[in-house]
Amino acid sequence: MLRALFVSLSRNRTLKERVMRWDFVARAAARFVAGERLEDGIRAIQELEAAGILGILDHLGENVESLQDAQRATEDYLLALDRLAALGLRPHLAVKLTHLGLDVGDAVCERNLRRVVERAAAVGTVVEIDMEGSAYTERTLALYRRVARDHPNTRVAIQAYLYRSAEDVERLIEEGMARIRLCKGAYREPPQIAYPRKRDVDANYVRLMERLLSAEARRRGAYVAIATHDERIIRHALRRVVEWGVPREAFEFQMLYGIRRDLQVRLAGEGYRVRVYVPYGTEWYPYFMRRLGERPANLWFVLRNLFR
Ligand SMILES: Cc1cc2nc3c(=O)[nH]c(=O)nc-3n(C[C@H](O)[C@H](O)[C@H](O)COP(=O)(O)OP(=O)(O)OC[C@H]3O[C@@H](n4cnc5c(N)ncnc54)[C@H](O)[C@@H]3O)c2cc1C
Repeated sequence: MLRALFVSLSRNRTLKERVMRWDFVARAAARFVAGERLEDGIRAIQELEAAGILGILDHLGENVESLQDAQRATEDYLLALDRLAALGLRPHLAVKLTHLGLDVGDAVCERNLRRVVERAAAVGTVVEIDMEGSAYTERTLALYRRVARDHPNTRVAIQAYLYRSAEDVERLIEEGMARIRLCKGAYREPPQIAYPRKRDVDANYVRLMERLLSAEARRRGAYVAIATHDERIIRHALRRVVEWGVPREAFEFQMLYGIRRDLQVRLAGEGYRVRVYVPYGTEWYPYFMRRLGERPANLWFVLRNLFR
């Protein structure tokens, strides 16, 4: 309920313009967003690296409507890659295809994505394609396949709340292209296409995670990033890893900036590969609203900032 409400608020432009002007909201958003400038993202990545944690840098932005905006987003990513490489940093890059022009057209988006992926390969890093609302799932997977076939430094996110994901995972394993970030899913989807109950989403998450960790999937090149803060699921993954003798190089844990830092540090300290998703940029409103909707307690956190 709460999540559905915040996902629809995240798309409301009038509210966005108002809310982004309120200081206390911007202060609250700073818990989840490294800052507005590339330098803020870089600083967060450096702090994580000092704690033995890897990074994924995300320049916030989605649903751009013009060719020029898609072009600008692409150039910004290329610039970020060059700047990071000059500093000797190689975090993964996260991109949303609607930021690279998917709403303008598939060909435009593919061209932009290829440029980013090629530059990432040149500096020795990986591009992770975020998964957005279900209206984009099919096109996102099609573009991922086309680009990842030429560029193995590409990964894609899969959402456990979608019924279709079991089949998508199977097909990607078969095709030897299962380089997957597995998440639960952050958008509002109807019960015809997504599990409405959290417990079913969690059960499907575990099924997909086990499939991707299985020896057979790994033989076909599967690599899974277990992107969740759910400690029960993480403990389950660790049990399976031991039981099935899964090497630590065959998977990683991923979490979001500002969420369960204690768990991030603990897992990294135990020698597991941990990667944290670091968003930066001025377009923080929709990202922040999705984070608020995931946890009612976050609303109190926002209100506390009102009185600070
Ligand atoms: C690295 C990464 C990349 C992601 N990429 C995508 C993507 O491409 N597409 C997509 O749809 N979704 C993406 N997500 C979001 C994901 O789908 C979930 O919405 C989000 O991770 C919350 O679910 P959870 O797995 O942590 O489990 P939950 O069961 O929701 O939460 C488990 C516990 O985590 C903590 N927690 C979870 N969320 C919050 C929060 N907002 N604030 C504070 N504590 C919290 C709480 O302690 C909670 O009890 C990504 C998540 C991660 C970690």
